[in-house]
Amino acid sequence: MAIRILTGEVIDQIAAGEVLERPANLVKELVENSLDAGADQVEVEYDDGGRSVTVMDNGRGMNREDLKLSVQRHATSKIQASDDLFRLATYGFRGEALASIAGVSEMSITSRHSDADQGFRLRVRFGQADDAMAVSSRVGTTVQVRDLFANVPARLSFLKSESAEHGQIRSTLKAMALAREDVAFTLRSKGELVAHWPKNQSFNERVRDVLQNQNMFLAQGENKGIRVEAAFSSPRDTQAVNRHLWFFVQGRWVQDRALSVAVMEAYRNLLMHGEYPTAVVRIELDPADVDVNVHPTKAQVKFKNPQDVFRAVSSTIRSALEKAPWLPEKTAEPTVTAFKPKAEGGTTLSFTAPEFRQTQYSQKMFPLAMVREAIADSPKVSSAATPNQPATEFRWQDLQIIGQLHLTYIVAQDSNSYYLIDQHAAHERVVFERLMESFKNGRMDIQNLLIPLTLDLSEAEMQALLNERANFERLGLTLDRLGPETLVVQTMPSLISENSVAEALKKAAHSLHEVGGGGFFERACADVFATMACHSVVRAGQAMSFEQMAQLLQQMDEYPLSSFCPHGRPVYIQKRFSEVEREFGRIT
Ligand code: ADP
Ligand code: MG
Repeated sequence: MAIRILTGEVIDQIAAGEVLERPANLVKELVENSLDAGADQVEVEYDDGGRSVTVMDNGRGMNREDLKLSVQRHATSKIQASDDLFRLATYGFRGEALASIAGVSEMSITSRHSDADQGFRLRVRFGQADDAMAVSSRVGTTVQVRDLFANVPARLSFLKSESAEHGQIRSTLKAMALAREDVAFTLRSKGELVAHWPKNQSFNERVRDVLQNQNMFLAQGENKGIRVEAAFSSPRDTQAVNRHLWFFVQGRWVQDRALSVAVMEAYRNLLMHGEYPTAVVRIELDPADVDVNVHPTKAQVKFKNPQDVFRAVSSTIRSALEKAPWLPEKTAEPTVTAFKPKAEGGTTLSFTAPEFRQTQYSQKMFPLAMVREAIADSPKVSSAATPNQPATEFRWQDLQIIGQLHLTYIVAQDSNSYYLIDQHAAHERVVFERLMESFKNGRMDIQNLLIPLTLDLSEAEMQALLNERANFERLGLTLDRLGPETLVVQTMPSLISENSVAEALKKAAHSLHEVGGGGFFERACADVFATMACHSVVRAGQAMSFEQMAQLLQQMDEYPLSSFCPHGRPVYIQKRFSEVEREFGRIT
């Protein structure tokens, strides 16, 4: 076939394919135009799987000439020179959306410019424009699209079910609403109101309304001029899919795997495998450090320094998570007086007796010898026990212990709830945090093994471990080669039990071998410590005395993350008495 220049019609259809893969893309383009026109009210109606869409705004509108130009390809009011691309203040700049939509649908645009006393309507049927006619209209623009893709059967056949396309449209509109809480959005479908988000909400209010999640927490941070604002869920409030991670760069919704990884990194050791949090992350940085023009639908961006952005996102959320804002708030009333059982028949339950309150803080009560020393000697334990903390702060040690359930859970209460605390998970968390802390401070307490521990490994695993010998040394593990497939461990952290080491090293060898070194170690040490902690602490099925339970609660107060074990399982369940009373029908 000879080379031919494509006709305008074909060019339009190809371009339409790039910008408009699906109806949701069309909705995004139209709403972005409304926002670029300065609208603070946007109404969207969609139907018929998105093949029928109307977007109405109260923006500045277009005059007759602009209306005619708006549907021409590469017609834009937003940039003039290519330099403008690097200081974009608008969503649109390619001048393609309206031209593309006009080529593949029946479209009508009704617009009245804010300076004009009447409006105009332009109709375009599959690329053929009529003359604009004068109509009466309010200031702003309404774009109506019907029969989308009717002239491109191939594209039509790729559309998913009506509900799937509507779902995509809703997600797109949610994203736009999450980026712009100053603008009111109204969504309608099949003649019914789907959602309304009023204008001038706070970020917090908008997030709660859009995601219908009342339990979101806020954080802000900055790293090297990269500003991050985030709303995130507690690690207990998770989903089985990562669809609930929303990212915005310079106010644009983007889908970026690296940013998802940054959020997951912040939740490291707080979630179980396959669990995802909900998060809305907004990033602002110097326009020179990001390129938004790398993708036809502008859904991806390119950062000049992706590492800095990664760190800004993950550390902002991590440091907020470490404050564990979801932990229950303590009531003002002191627990013991509030809950001392009525002395019926003159008996008092033994755990409220003053003797118990006194012995509760005595140390070295823990059943496991190797854990006992290190934890009991911690200077933090005594500081956590001093009573000069603010009364509103929740402390585990202030709970009143009722007893042990099923040899597995500590039962405790305060004035408005009771708690079941998983003894293994709680203890695991404490030991894990202690290991991490002494590792970070470079003050790992180590013990020399009288009888060194030997481990059989494959040659490759062995090499992987020995390559990281210096790093393992920092973890308190001295490793040497004893034979071609035998590793010997000379020292280990004092906090842990010997049988946890083999397990931890085998896991580490495996992942080092699979993933390779290079930055791996920083992340791996958390996993190594998690394994060590898990195999070193009190187990389910082990009886604990009141003193031991009290001491464990006291140790839990040392660390902000003590409501999750290192494997991401919750450490406790809280049940409000009001809930219990409702279940018993005492209150309604
Ligand atoms: P771009 O947004 O990239 O400029 P579009 O094809 O989406 O390209 O729109 C072309 C032009 O039409 C815009 O630059 C703008 O001047 C005008 N326009 C489109 N939609 C609206 C609207 N809702 N209100 C006012 N002007 C609009
Ligand atoms: Mg546009």
